Amino acid sequence: KDAAVPIESLDQLSKTSYPLCMRMCHEHLRANHHIKHGGRMQYGLFLKGIGVTLEDSLRFWREEFTKKMDADKFARSYEYNINHNYGKKGSMVNYTPYSCLKIIKEMAAPGDCHGCPYKAMDPVSLKTKMSSYGLSPSAIDEVMRYATSGHYQLACSKYFMITHNSTTEPTINHPNGYFEESQIVMG
Ligand code: SF4
Repeated sequence: KDAAVPIESLDQLSKTSYPLCMRMCHEHLRANHHIKHGGRMQYGLFLKGIGVTLEDSLRFWREEFTKKMDADKFARSYEYNINHNYGKKGSMVNYTPYSCLKIIKEMAAPGDCHGCPYKAMDPVSLKTKMSSYGLSPSAIDEVMRYATSGHYQLACSKYFMITHNSTTEPTINHPNGYFEESQIVMG
């Protein structure tokens, strides 16, 4: 699937095809109109990876951030970084979306949306979150068994199976892989 993903479809995709780490970022951004640097990197590169164009990315972040700040400040403080992530500024390096390993190991600071929720969230909040997404108590228990024993990626693949009614267990080692797998399963 090479077609660009329009930002108008992100609310829907975040519910059906995002792994929890990215759904949390998306919801945090929609609710707070801001995400700290770590979350912008984690989510911004993911968006690039699923096929959101640079122009759409700029529009997406601008529309949210300018609910709380003026357009000049946004342009001065944030646009550079978005261009940078797409390799259009600075070193011209094409930044790669973060893997699960990187997110689990390096994105662990609490207090913002970034990180792997199976590791970063306290168990009560994680359960409440999954319950609000419509998972049954027994499904939540299954996911939690993995999460609380430190098997975050297995928790994630369990969550995938439950939310996609899938009988095969996907190997999750990248949020973008999760998304692609979801797009395949959903046809
Ligand atoms: Fe995201 Fe990977 Fe954690 Fe799943 S296991 S929530 S894809 S970081």
